[in-house]
Amino acid sequence: MKLGVMLFLVLGTCSLRAWCVPLKSVYVTFPGDLIKNMTDTQLADEYLKRYGYIDVLQKSGLQATSKALKKLQRQLGLEETGSLDQPTVDAMKQPRCGVPDIRNYQTFEGDLKWDHTDVTYRIENYSPDMEASLIDDTIARAFKVWSDVTPLTFTRLYDGTADIMISFGKADHGDFYPFDGKDGLLAHAYPPGEGMQGDVHFDDDEYWTLGSGPGYSLFLVAAHEFGHALGLAHSNINDALMYPIYRYIEDFSLNQDDVDGIQYIYGPKTGPNPTPPKPKTTTSSPTVPTKPTPVDPSLDPCEVKDFDAITEIQKELHFFKDGQYWKISSSGKRKGPFLVSEKWPALPAIINSAFEDQLTKKIYFFADKQFWVYTGKDVLGPRKIEKLGLPSDLDRVKGSVQRRNGKVLLFNGNNFWRLDVKTQLIDSGYPHVTDSFFYGMPNDAHNVFRFKRFFYFFRGIYYWRMNAKRVNDQNGFVKDMVKCK
Ligand code: ZN
Ligand code: CA
Ligand code: CA
Ligand code: ZN
Repeated sequence: MKLGVMLFLVLGTCSLRAWCVPLKSVYVTFPGDLIKNMTDTQLADEYLKRYGYIDVLQKSGLQATSKALKKLQRQLGLEETGSLDQPTVDAMKQPRCGVPDIRNYQTFEGDLKWDHTDVTYRIENYSPDMEASLIDDTIARAFKVWSDVTPLTFTRLYDGTADIMISFGKADHGDFYPFDGKDGLLAHAYPPGEGMQGDVHFDDDEYWTLGSGPGYSLFLVAAHEFGHALGLAHSNINDALMYPIYRYIEDFSLNQDDVDGIQYIYGPKTGPNPTPPKPKTTTSSPTVPTKPTPVDPSLDPCEVKDFDAITEIQKELHFFKDGQYWKISSSGKRKGPFLVSEKWPALPAIINSAFEDQLTKKIYFFADKQFWVYTGKDVLGPRKIEKLGLPSDLDRVKGSVQRRNGKVLLFNGNNFWRLDVKTQLIDSGYPHVTDSFFYGMPNDAHNVFRFKRFFYFFRGIYYWRMNAKRVNDQNGFVKDMVKCK
């Protein structure tokens, strides 16, 4: 049951799905009393800036505001009118979490995840509202929400510096984000990292309780804030713990969206109590299967009609098929086959598309409705492609083409979308129709990729090539690209 609405502030979260905002530029004074004296337009202006919908460093205009309003309406599940209608004004007046909804990677370094699973925390002081032992217990329960679904463990330290330093404070409490007295902002948290990052502050002008009745549930606020402290951002799913507007929920459980989000960063919880392996007495043990996808050694790359995916990784063209891949070196020699499961063990045997981000050298893999991101041996995922802003009924990504400025075009049939790799979101205004931009290319290509400044469209045993001026300058056989002469 949802009773009251409360709000808490988080200062920045970034993960792949997370958002953050420059610490210095974005603080906008927004106390409750001020809201009452604002016109709706002033309120909207402040709100859009505060939560990252409008870049405070950029000039704003009517068009920018309309675009920003649409984004906000999408985030809060309102009708996307792009205008300042009554439901939007009402929503803006609701107290909510203060974490900026639109991420910005300039503020915090790194991947915004803890690089160790044994995360530590320390409770620096207590609120007078609850007995200390009760606060200890509530904090531990709020961490358990996350350790139940991930490999993370949370260990309490009693002195020294912990990853997550937890404190209660009023007004100015030692960072650039003062609290605002009773109500309004309830708490804030920083995304994972060194120093103050990962820390969680609660506004001690609130009345903290175990839940129902007046005051705010320390458990729910803490669980939400810890989500940010682990790298999560806001969800647009109404019933998710990470939804920006917080409500009291009596029988709390994580929404699947929260679970997907945190498992995208840290993976699922590994077996509850791994039983020590028994001495092998029989070969017919019905337990864990070893290698699920045996590789077909007879698979001849020169006979493959439709490769699963083709992409350039570390300057070598890679051809993927059924759990194995071949590489074409810069000197034109074919190497392989290699096992996908050895190099990228998290991936399924059949992938649909892949690309290497030119700036970060991270490799993105798509298979059905999911994607993975590899940084060296480290993997994030799987995550639903829907989370990138692709339509929920899209069955797969069939091709991906790197553009300049951190943009990647994702193809499926006669549609393509432009992904901003930094924000991990599809740019607005997409999809576009493939053959209006890539005239003469097959619109049912099985693979689309970029190699040496050319666009390639593969279908069956043929390929079409388009140059940088978008002229179809060459067609040929796939086997020639695979060096089968
Ligand atoms: Zn939040
Ligand atoms: Ca810290
Ligand atoms: Ca407050
Ligand atoms: Zn603070």
